[in-house]
Amino acid sequence: SYVGIHSTSFRDLLLKPEIMKAITDCGFEHPSEVQQVCIPQAIVGTDVLCQAKSGLGKTAVFVISTLQQIDVVPGEVSVLVMCHTRELAFQIKNEYNRFTKYMPEIKTCVFYGGTDIKENEKILSNKETHPSIIVATPGRLNALVREKKVRLGTVKFFVLDECDKMLDQIDMRRDVQEIFRATPTNKQVMMFSATLSQSTRPICKKFMRNPLEIYVDDETKLTLHGLRQFYCKLSEAEKNRRLNDLLDELTYNQVIIFVKSTVRANELSKLLIECNFPATAVHSGISQEERIKRYQEFKNFKHRICVSTDVFGRGIDIERINVAVNYDMPDTPAAPGATDKDSLAQAADTYLHRVGRAGRFGTKGVAVSFVSSERDEAVLKSIEARFEKKIEEYPAGGEGIDV
Ligand code: ADP
Ligand code: MG
Repeated sequence: SYVGIHSTSFRDLLLKPEIMKAITDCGFEHPSEVQQVCIPQAIVGTDVLCQAKSGLGKTAVFVISTLQQIDVVPGEVSVLVMCHTRELAFQIKNEYNRFTKYMPEIKTCVFYGGTDIKENEKILSNKETHPSIIVATPGRLNALVREKKVRLGTVKFFVLDECDKMLDQIDMRRDVQEIFRATPTNKQVMMFSATLSQSTRPICKKFMRNPLEIYVDDETKLTLHGLRQFYCKLSEAEKNRRLNDLLDELTYNQVIIFVKSTVRANELSKLLIECNFPATAVHSGISQEERIKRYQEFKNFKHRICVSTDVFGRGIDIERINVAVNYDMPDTPAAPGATDKDSLAQAADTYLHRVGRAGRFGTKGVAVSFVSSERDEAVLKSIEARFEKKIEEYPAGGEGIDV
């Protein structure tokens, strides 16, 4: 399924000049591997199912290929992109804005829950503000579809980012399916993730016709080369102390710290602020407006440290993050009917996505995971087995770790 022809310059992709200009403004010099492989296929309308490691530019694949093909008709939606979190939807909308800099006729809107649906309806009911491109989370978009506030009969491009996450969660899958049925049969479907298990692939393919399946990186090769990974064995009670030490020892630009609950995110960020660490927290327990505000502030370097739940575990792209800490090891309670093996495999996926927040686009990064229980050890073992990667013990004093 691998495509043998590789272009090495964006110019070889023969894109519209206004897209090329935006690419140059973004500072992109060469297409990454996933872009070299996928864009030539995607711009001729082929359905694409793509797995490629984190941080290597999957977003630009669908943004560029949809913009290359789009024909703007005022008052009609042409491109529909869905993803699993609100911050990611917001981020993807910003990517479209970046790449449409020289295509002023193209409007992109983002719709997600936790905001006033009336505002969305207002935008959709006015021809002047009606978008050609919608980026959305499935719950809100489906609400708009059900209320007949959005017409999807003109959609020509249907994209799912983090598709495994969207289709593995039953509620989200239901919304996606309902939305899918509201779009025409004849359209291009593209799906992306860093993790696409053997069992998820057929589910994705049900939405597609003769898709080009691109698995740029074999499962065992998904770990990032620039990322060094460590664990610390400690007790629950030692975590704060150790985190404090880590933040003193490691020279970080920005750090993301993952915890398992909203309550713990609040508590830990408070504690860090009390200890004079410039921290913020992002999780589902705060208002939507405040969530996006904190996301933007963190991205704009207003805070150096962000404590987060898995809300930020996937897709979020903050280039200065060079350290990721699993204060709590990822774990998912086994879903009804799922085995412990499934649950461990899911935890390993979550780990891969989380640590992929550091070391983006080939930059250097460090991941440190706190292991404080037998379960944590089992998760660690499953990560090592799945990605065929030995995770080393964190050296005393952070000796020799050069971020
Ligand atoms: P993924 O979705 O594969 O995890 P992203 O699409 O979020 O990765 O891209 C990661 C980062 O790499 C972003 O900051 C993006 O702007 C940057 N990037 C993408 N493509 C290129 C490129 N060809 N050259 C330089 N930077 C790029
Ligand atoms: Mg992505």
